[in-house]
Amino acid sequence: MSMPSNLAIARDAVLRPLTDVAADMGIGPHLLEPYGRGAAKIDLAAIDELADRPKAKYVVVSAITPTPLGEGKTTTTVGIGQAMAHLGHRATVAIRQPSMGPTFGIKGGAAGGGYSQVVPMEQINLHLTGDMHAVTAAHNQLSAMVDSHLHFGAEPVLDPRSVTWRRVIDVNDRALRNIVIGLGSRADGVVRETGFDITAASEVMALLALADSLPDMRARLGRIVVGSTPDGEPVTAEDLRAAGAMTVILKQAIKPNLMQTLEGTPVLVHAGPFGNIATGNSSVVADRIGIHSGEFLLTEAGFGADMGAERFFNIKCRASGLTPDAAVIVATVRALKAHSGRFTVVAGKPLPPEMVAENPDDVHAGAANLVKQIENIRVHGVSPVVAINAFPGDHASEHDAIRQIAEAAGARVAVSTHVADGGKGGVELAAMVAEAAHEPSSFQMLYPDEASLRDKVSAIATQVYGASGVEYAPAAARQLDRFTELGLGHLPVCIAKTHLSISSDPSLLGAPTGWTLPVREVRASVGAGFIYLICGEMRTMPGLGRNPAAMQVDIDADGEVVGLY
Ligand code: ADP
Ligand code: MG
Repeated sequence: MSMPSNLAIARDAVLRPLTDVAADMGIGPHLLEPYGRGAAKIDLAAIDELADRPKAKYVVVSAITPTPLGEGKTTTTVGIGQAMAHLGHRATVAIRQPSMGPTFGIKGGAAGGGYSQVVPMEQINLHLTGDMHAVTAAHNQLSAMVDSHLHFGAEPVLDPRSVTWRRVIDVNDRALRNIVIGLGSRADGVVRETGFDITAASEVMALLALADSLPDMRARLGRIVVGSTPDGEPVTAEDLRAAGAMTVILKQAIKPNLMQTLEGTPVLVHAGPFGNIATGNSSVVADRIGIHSGEFLLTEAGFGADMGAERFFNIKCRASGLTPDAAVIVATVRALKAHSGRFTVVAGKPLPPEMVAENPDDVHAGAANLVKQIENIRVHGVSPVVAINAFPGDHASEHDAIRQIAEAAGARVAVSTHVADGGKGGVELAAMVAEAAHEPSSFQMLYPDEASLRDKVSAIATQVYGASGVEYAPAAARQLDRFTELGLGHLPVCIAKTHLSISSDPSLLGAPTGWTLPVREVRASVGAGFIYLICGEMRTMPGLGRNPAAMQVDIDADGEVVGLY
């Protein structure tokens, strides 16, 4: 019954030559730049070369509101990709590159699990082709140019207290959250307080995911606002003449990485924006390639459908112009039981025994969350498919309970055992996804570009989150008005809130109503192209726990990595 570790399964995988995987996508070897045996960059010329090929059905994989353990969106996305091949369909999977901070922190890897993984798993979880480092370097190049600008007192005059551009690194390091720089003599720069965020939280990462071409990335980098003049006029990366160098640093990073599943089907791994202050989805350029590379393009959107799918629809699809045909909502027995409010799930701890015991009533007691997330897909005119991600120790009666809840809400539903069984375990689910995707899509965004920023926030808060209203702290209201004055009112909005509740309060389970969304602060990611609103405590630099995953990782006598999972 017990399965080998993810790492052991991944290591036993027999990789197909990537030229063969690419050939299945219609991508010739002239478009591939191999990075070792396991990954290759795809030249962006592929976008134009593939443009005349048929368009794939576009499917986003999202979830009910997860427990802190994660409910298996990545495994399910990979599992459906593999399962489609069992049905004779060509499907491409598009996911984010995992961040190394969490890999050595709590997550221990994010390339799927069991027999539904992206391989080589060590490569995807560690440096891959260096994109993370390129984002770090481009971001910090701008940081250095900001401080040099201050040092020389160059034009336009930058008010040191207005600088919002920080530094980034792909390590969970709480000691870097707040720092003082420029200490020493006059020659050592201007003394000021700043800090580090994790690379995934960089605006450079957010815009790498949303740019649709190299020139578009160049333009977006130039629009990054680093601070303002003493009169409050924005100062941009273009004003500092930094955007060209940043583009050059990112020249390789904008090309998506081709990898494969354990069953040799194609996976595009690209970008890794945070799911709270950014879109939490892989890149527009990967999707522009993937959309013409097979019959299905499956992409994972971070956190629950209220967050990942909402941003996918309203921010990413707005930027790319691509329209989704179906949405998968991953549901698990453990998450539904958690939404009953009868149990407490703690990351890094085993589930309480009362929660593991067979009890379909506990599943029914958590139904409200799944029902609301189904509605959150439907409100965008997209067909939902509920994927019951089967865990070892689940009981059939509990799967039946989820099936009943989903069917009563009018959604397609299937149990999937892709983690234990690979693609063949996901065949029923993949067939449902294919069916839903072939229905005519009536996709619609929640709000038009022209709506006011307040109306956009209110649409998401009331229609997706179930809030009764929005309350702005006085400073937040001023910032919002200022962004409108600056001509940024046409941008979509990204609401940064907890992922552990549909509401902004992580302790509220199910589908809470009658609450107010509190907006504490408003910021603009002008380069990425959205306004984001801080609702609750948002950490942009994680810390390590007392026993981080890093403590388990080592090299064995044969030079093999152990302890990644
Ligand atoms: P998400 O993408 O939603 O965060 P992942 O796919 O990364 O979720 O899965 C979260 C964790 O749960 C991973 O450690 C994964 O290996 C594990 N997991 C997911 N699905 C299953 C399953 N069906 N059986 C066992 N473990 C699973
Ligand atoms: Mg994931």
